[in-house]
Amino acid sequence: MNRRRSLSLALASLAAGAASCRREEASQAAAKPAEASTPPAPRKNLEGQSLTPVEIDPSLEIRTITGLRPFRPSGFVVRREEREGKILVHNYGHGGGGITLSWGTSQQAVSMVESVSGQSCAVIGGGVMGLSTARLLQLRGAKVTLYTDALPPDTTSNIAGGHWWPVSVFDKRTPEFAAQFIEAARFAFRYFQRLAGPHWGVRWVPSYYLSEVPPENGWIAGPGGVLHETQVGFRDFGPGEHIFPAKYLRRFHTMMIEPSIYLQALLRDVQIGGAAIEIRRFPSADEVVKLPQQVIFNCTGLGARDLFADAELTPIKGQLTILKPQPAVDYNLIMGRYYMFSRADGIVLGGTYDKGNWNLAPDDAVRREIVEGQRRLFEQMRANQQGILAAAR
Ligand SMILES: Cc1cc2nc3c(=O)[nH]c(=O)nc-3n(C[C@H](O)[C@H](O)[C@H](O)COP(=O)(O)OP(=O)(O)OC[C@H]3O[C@@H](n4cnc5c(N)ncnc54)[C@H](O)[C@@H]3O)c2cc1C
Repeated sequence: MNRRRSLSLALASLAAGAASCRREEASQAAAKPAEASTPPAPRKNLEGQSLTPVEIDPSLEIRTITGLRPFRPSGFVVRREEREGKILVHNYGHGGGGITLSWGTSQQAVSMVESVSGQSCAVIGGGVMGLSTARLLQLRGAKVTLYTDALPPDTTSNIAGGHWWPVSVFDKRTPEFAAQFIEAARFAFRYFQRLAGPHWGVRWVPSYYLSEVPPENGWIAGPGGVLHETQVGFRDFGPGEHIFPAKYLRRFHTMMIEPSIYLQALLRDVQIGGAAIEIRRFPSADEVVKLPQQVIFNCTGLGARDLFADAELTPIKGQLTILKPQPAVDYNLIMGRYYMFSRADGIVLGGTYDKGNWNLAPDDAVRREIVEGQRRLFEQMRANQQGILAAAR
């Protein structure tokens, strides 16, 4: 389904929701008994009834940003090779799930070298993959030099929404890749749990998925999915069981990893762990293998396309609009391709998936479409909540 069609379906459902809410109110009013002393009907506990809807208004917008997800149709690359007598380990191409998978694929990458204790290792890249790889190497006793063109807050990793869930990571999968993906996701899911708390900017939130048709169970998600065990508190709700402006609702709890807090904390840990950092851009793979270290980790994200001639790497452009923080909003909401993530540094409204688009300029028409679509959605959520309260009085 294309983006415009999914938005118009979403908006049509809002209108339908409003009409059914008005009908419900009218029939409740007609049925009201005359005596004031009659006790109120017990209030139905509908999912989402006590959540605070997001306030959306142009005056609350603080910025619109874009980034390029480093996508490969056949999935990320975690692989070891030998070049000119050096050990070169790749860890790149994680698409829309790089924050999610970071500890997992970095653990796989460092495990590809038998022993690094006491050895000098080079890590190229200062995004989430480079920093996680560097930290895991230090924990195994290696001396790390991090070479990178950019550090947080100037990496693609800083643009991420930060939702722990691996989306847009691959289009097709071999059995070998599937095993690597599952292992990485499970490892990362457990690792991030140890970091929950304000220092790392990691916390648990409920995520709500809205749809007009019953939610599908795929290879990854839902009962029987390979990562279903990571969908904590999983439950599907049908029409009449929730207050959201759509027929169906899927809920599960997962982690939010706030990039602005998390990446700084990780960078600090890597520095405290003794890493030397050199700001440097490599023009070619030849320059990489000339480094003095014997073991080199390539964590250059989309940069690996030119550096290591990986033509499969392609950008998926994403655009997000951030609203001023709203601390009372403590849940995520996803409808089709549109999502709202609640973070300490703002309300994140997203997000586009524009494959093959290298243009980092924000598109104002897209910004208006995202903001307006979500404004209607949350207005309808508020109306539904008020309708239910009125009906219970
Ligand atoms: C809009 C958007 C929303 C997203 N939301 C989520 C989400 O909710 N959850 C999630 O898990 N993921 C999300 N992602 C995906 C995630 O951001 C990426 O998968 C992840 O950041 C990739 O990390 P990385 O370290 O490989 O790449 P990067 O962060 O791009 O880091 C690459 C590093 O390599 C350096 N480098 C590159 N080339 C060279 C060179 N030639 N010489 C020297 N240094 C070089 C760069 O300077 C940089 O430091 C999102 C992405 C976008 C764009």
